[in-house]
Amino acid sequence: MEKYDYLIVGAGLFGAVFAHEAKQKGKKCLVIEKRDHIAGNVYTKSVEGVNVHVYGAHIFHTSDERVWEYVNRFAKFNNYINSPVAIYGDELYNLPFNMNTFSKMWGIKTPAEAKKKIADQIADLNITNPQNLEEQALSLVGRDVYEKLIKGYTEKQWGRQCSELPAFIIKRLPLRFIYDNNYFNDRYQGVAEGGYTSMVEKMLDGTKVLLNTDYFDFIKDNPDIASKTVFSGMIDRFFDYSLGTLEYRSVRFETEVIDTDNYQGNAVVNYTDAKVPYTRIIEHKHFEFGTQPKTVISKEYSKEWKKGDEPYYPVNNDTNNALYEKYTALAKNRPDVIFGGRLGAYKYFDMDKVIAFALDTAGRELNG
Ligand code: FAD
Ligand code: UDP
Repeated sequence: MEKYDYLIVGAGLFGAVFAHEAKQKGKKCLVIEKRDHIAGNVYTKSVEGVNVHVYGAHIFHTSDERVWEYVNRFAKFNNYINSPVAIYGDELYNLPFNMNTFSKMWGIKTPAEAKKKIADQIADLNITNPQNLEEQALSLVGRDVYEKLIKGYTEKQWGRQCSELPAFIIKRLPLRFIYDNNYFNDRYQGVAEGGYTSMVEKMLDGTKVLLNTDYFDFIKDNPDIASKTVFSGMIDRFFDYSLGTLEYRSVRFETEVIDTDNYQGNAVVNYTDAKVPYTRIIEHKHFEFGTQPKTVISKEYSKEWKKGDEPYYPVNNDTNNALYEKYTALAKNRPDVIFGGRLGAYKYFDMDKVIAFALDTAGRELNG
């Protein structure tokens, strides 16, 4: 096989952005991808005319001007605003936690009433410096919201007690004392019209991509294929799990076509009761204001990752973070390999963060 400047492992956002930037600089890249399609976890495919987010709902949101300008070169974004609802038993609440949630929960109307309710519910707890997700959530929203909308969902999602999870996970969600159901605080938000796959296709335009190609098999037969490797797979797998296995959460998606034009009236409905086995139901057409006669829904079942599963969420607790640090020490001995992306960095990155990460990495690498 011919030689390349870069062997890029993974055709997700990290690999695709790096490949695009390298090509612009006149570098020769080969992208290899073990799945049978490009786009990594943002992959979308058309079912009954609906763009299905195959690896979970993806809403693009950012406050980073550079990244927003960048993605708009490859896709047109619609004006979708994520406003999930949460179902707990026969009760329904707006997310994220805001005045609509509090008003429905307690029959109150003003921010002062909501703040007093929360303060009263946590007065006896004396949490000054939250040490875990449970303490963090209680101190932010009080006991009722914690018990009904956070505890069951989080314990299903992570398979661990809230008291054993890091506080930062819940801080991803906005908390507002105004009537505003926008799930994100970012300046820009939307979904790529026509799906994300064509966006990534444009990023990879002119770059050779081999699908169904696993790096660990490929490199045995092609050890000298490129001077450098950009690796966006699992860092622990790269080193053959030699220091131990990092923990991940995986997800099983149960997708079905339903013969109705509107199944749940919203793209994202969370089921926050521990008794319901799935965490949420996605109705894909609503991401693009679809009017198709049928609909496609996906139920998400969270589970612990084991070898062979898709790793979705790194479990960033102290033990795993310490193990990851040890792997980064090994990575320093491999100057021929650049580790990046969500799995290479063992960090939960939103799409905009992974694009910024790829642009920065490419900038350092290609501009010298
Ligand atoms: P990936 O997309 O995982 O790409 C890595 C690629 O490398 C994969 O295609 C994989 O098959 C391939 N690969 C791995 N190992 C090998 C190997 N050995 N050989 C060959 N190929 C290999 N972000 C948002 O901004 N908004 C959202 O709403 C949002 N929702 C999400 C919902 C879920 C359920 C999940 C899991 C994530 C969500 N994200 C969201 C995050 C988003 O998916 C990531 O930021 C982004 O996909 C990361 O891109 P990546 O290139 O780092 O990783
Ligand atoms: N969360 C919750 N209840 C909900 C939604 C989210 O308790 O109805 C918590 C849960 O711990 C989750 C975290 O908030 O892991 C972050 O939520 P987000 O929607 O960002 O999760 P993702 O979409 O990344 O799975």
